[in-house]
Amino acid sequence: MTRRTITIRYTGFRECPNCEGRGDDGAAWRPMECRRCKGRGKLVTDVEIEDSVEGLLPRSRYDFNAQGEVFLLDFDEDEEIEVIRPEDQRD
Ligand SMILES: [Zn+2]
Repeated sequence: MTRRTITIRYTGFRECPNCEGRGDDGAAWRPMECRRCKGRGKLVTDVEIEDSVEGLLPRSRYDFNAQGEVFLLDFDEDEEIEVIRPEDQRD
């Protein structure tokens, strides 16, 4: 039996309004990482989640936030699931 896998892909971004896409506060000396986007300069607006068992999951089965953290809903916690997260898409 192969292990169930959940693959997460980011499919939409928008420029972080807090740092205007810089990823930091723009200080000339020791710029501070932007707290809102964690230094990425962009926020996640859309994700796609593919389950090796059920295929693409409907939006009602997961939740996510602008930092790209994904929360699976209605999954059996006893089942061993491998979650494949996207690589850090920092440029
Ligand atoms: Zn930012």
